Amino acid sequence: MSLIREAIDLMAPNTCDVCGDYADADGNLSIITGIYSRIYGPGKRFHICSSCMAGFVPQPPDKRWFTVLSNPVENDPYPDMTLFMPFAYSGVVDRALPAIKFRGRKELARMLGILMGRMILCQDIFCDIIVPMPLSKERLYERGFNQAYEMSYPVSVITGIPLADDVLRRRLDTARQSGITDSTLRAVNVSGAFEVDSKWDLSGLRVMLTDDVATTGHTMHEAAMTLIEAGADDVLCCAFSGNRQLKNDEPF
Ligand SMILES: [Zn+2]
Repeated sequence: MSLIREAIDLMAPNTCDVCGDYADADGNLSIITGIYSRIYGPGKRFHICSSCMAGFVPQPPDKRWFTVLSNPVENDPYPDMTLFMPFAYSGVVDRALPAIKFRGRKELARMLGILMGRMILCQDIFCDIIVPMPLSKERLYERGFNQAYEMSYPVSVITGIPLADDVLRRRLDTARQSGITDSTLRAVNVSGAFEVDSKWDLSGLRVMLTDDVATTGHTMHEAAMTLIEAGADDVLCCAFSGNRQLKNDEPF
């Protein structure tokens, strides 16, 4: 994958990572590109056009907090679990996420992480550790990187909260959630899907669990429950964006 990407970049160095048009915003994003090259090294950058960049719109402050489950279920042991989701689910987000997952645009995941990190820095969010949602070994091999990790790394650098990507593991390869429409089946599909590495003692820690997108929230909820059952004091779920309405009036 990386050789193909390098070949494409050589042939078309200024192509928008989202839409493929001319990346005319490359020279106008001094703050974001400056942070990017400070984190990843001189000359390292992402490419984006002004139209796509304008589509990443932060939610107003009262529309950033949600319940983790889009449809709360009865007997949920943690119904008050909070999801921080700072960006509106716009058309460009809908195009950017598949570009990351299926076209290998790792740089785009990192750029979204920079945007998310700046939003987190503006909130009164205090966590001890950032845990990215893990991928199964199979999907990590297919994709070559974990987009949740790539997004979390700049969040960690910007906020100063340590990142630990070896806390949580996938226990088994669950069927792809995107192929399951029924809410109950989605919950069953991820039940028992995660485990915490035995070398970690999460006692008393406030954990930030990060992912690129939240859909029904079942996978995040299951991962967060696993962290709490392993001793975490509290878990704040964070996703860049997601298509949902149900607000949580209680910020983390
Ligand atoms: Zn574009």
